[in-house]
Amino acid sequence: MRADMTMAGPLVIRSQHRSPARTQRGAVAAGLHDAHGRVIEYLRLSLTPSCPMRCVYCRPAGMCGQACDQMTSQEITALVGHLVANHGVRKVRLTGGEPTCRRDLVPIIEQLAALPHPPQLTMTTNGLSLARHATALAAAGLTRVNVSIDSLDPDRFRQITGVDDVERVMGGIDAAIAAGLMPVKLNAVVMRNYNDQDMADLVDFAANRQLEMRFIELMPMGPLADTWGSRYVSEAWMKRCLDRIVETWAPCPADGSAARRYQARLTDGRHVTVGFITPMSCSFCDRCDRIRISADGALYPCLMDKPAGTLMPGLRPLFDPEKVTQILLEGLGRKRIEHPATGVSVMTEIGG
Ligand code: SAM
Repeated sequence: MRADMTMAGPLVIRSQHRSPARTQRGAVAAGLHDAHGRVIEYLRLSLTPSCPMRCVYCRPAGMCGQACDQMTSQEITALVGHLVANHGVRKVRLTGGEPTCRRDLVPIIEQLAALPHPPQLTMTTNGLSLARHATALAAAGLTRVNVSIDSLDPDRFRQITGVDDVERVMGGIDAAIAAGLMPVKLNAVVMRNYNDQDMADLVDFAANRQLEMRFIELMPMGPLADTWGSRYVSEAWMKRCLDRIVETWAPCPADGSAARRYQARLTDGRHVTVGFITPMSCSFCDRCDRIRISADGALYPCLMDKPAGTLMPGLRPLFDPEKVTQILLEGLGRKRIEHPATGVSVMTEIGG
């Protein structure tokens, strides 16, 4: 089956793509291709814009993030079930804001894991409450987590996040490992003359636990957008910051993630996987396989673009799968071939 949609640009739905999902009856679900031939099978779903952290690059001063009319757990389950069964979505990453701020996080995961053909369910978190909840999250059906940790230095961690608790995050990482939420990946946004000096400690921490450490280039969106040029650190600079502990960089085969990954041999003989996520120095837009939906149902075809509509009319007062599909296809038709130069929103709202 193949249908060409003309109302929202040359978007096509095709039944054949890399890994077809199965419909509830066992037939192959139609996969989504955007107007530029990219297969969309990865949903990043924000559960809430709320977050106890105030990261300098993410959350503008004064933003409280509490006020949105967020999707209920039933609406989320119906929406994801529809995208999986009928549009070939295979991977769902729960994010925010901070997804663990959602009181009904465990039931949401249970419901998504109980879908007839459940997607791969992962989560990005600040790690603050993993020590308490990792076991329950794994039991509910979460498969793995990415944890943001920008520095191990308590003072710098507090300066960056506004929270004086790096040890709690480190404990959360160990709890995630113990709960089997593997592979746990660690993410750090690197800022020049801020935390670039902490990269070696982060690599050492990851190597001790055999985790993957990923360094993210600062994107010109959110509170540091105006001073981005003075804070931005490219992959090449990041590697130089690691010169004193990394002896060799051996490229790893691509694993479908956004990161360019290397097996780093450290000067003390240990090995660790280090990834660089380089939206600015080396765009991966041509491989983009994702869409984002914010907690209030706004559809973001691109992290750095404005929303392309809201799915709410398809969710309320009753779930209307045809309406959801129509809004989705219209929005996806606006997915650009490359992200704009600067972001128009903040990640904590969109779901980074
Ligand atoms: N609260 C969770 C966390 O701390 O990971 C999930 C949400 S957070 C918005 C998701 C990711 O966005 C984090 O890895 C964060 O570092 C990243 N992020 C936010 N603003 C960014 C920016 N301006 N440039 C690059 N990464 C950014």
